[in-house]
Amino acid sequence: MTTRELVAKGLQLPLMEAFYTIQGEGKFTGHPAYFIRLGGCDVGCVWCDVKESWEAGKWPVVDIEQIVEEACSYPGRLVVITGGEPLMYDLGPLTKLLKEKGFTTNIETSGAHPYSGDFDWVCFSPKKFKKPHPSIYAKADELKVVVFHKSDFDFAEEHATLVNGSCELRLQPEWSKADKFTPEIIEYVKNRPVWKISLQTHKFMDIP
Ligand code: SF4
Repeated sequence: MTTRELVAKGLQLPLMEAFYTIQGEGKFTGHPAYFIRLGGCDVGCVWCDVKESWEAGKWPVVDIEQIVEEACSYPGRLVVITGGEPLMYDLGPLTKLLKEKGFTTNIETSGAHPYSGDFDWVCFSPKKFKKPHPSIYAKADELKVVVFHKSDFDFAEEHATLVNGSCELRLQPEWSKADKFTPEIIEYVKNRPVWKISLQTHKFMDIP
């Protein structure tokens, strides 16, 4: 098979980086986790802090066995697959292997591509720049909306009506706008307690 065919089957994936750290945001804040950051994203958020991930061709294409072997060399058994936009790829084979090795599998996605893979926790962070694929709404365990503009509160409410009933709802200030929006988010959540606040605590701790 060619590399293109192997990537299409999810047997090889463009890997931007992988590292063991502490999950800084969302439900699993504070948990040690192995992050697998796949290259490639076609969403185009203006405030994206990993713009270097966008071009998939810049990153080495790696066998999923090798990705999992590296993950196994650390003591934690929580893995977070992120990007880029990881659902650009079929994540079935990678998550199957990770589960065979005893990992809890989490994903962080904008939902802009069809859902794939076997995940224990799906953090869905929709973006205005590319409409989510309908398959994500039933799978989302956590809706995390980044607040960069006042209109993001309405965007968050709109998506809250679309996700399944057990999905946890979180608002997260965009890092560069945190001074402006954190006080507004605090008041918003106090008035609409179905929402919780997510902070990028890894940035406060100065870890990746
Ligand atoms: S979806 Fe994520 S990786 Fe893609 S542009 Fe937006 S913030 Fe960046």
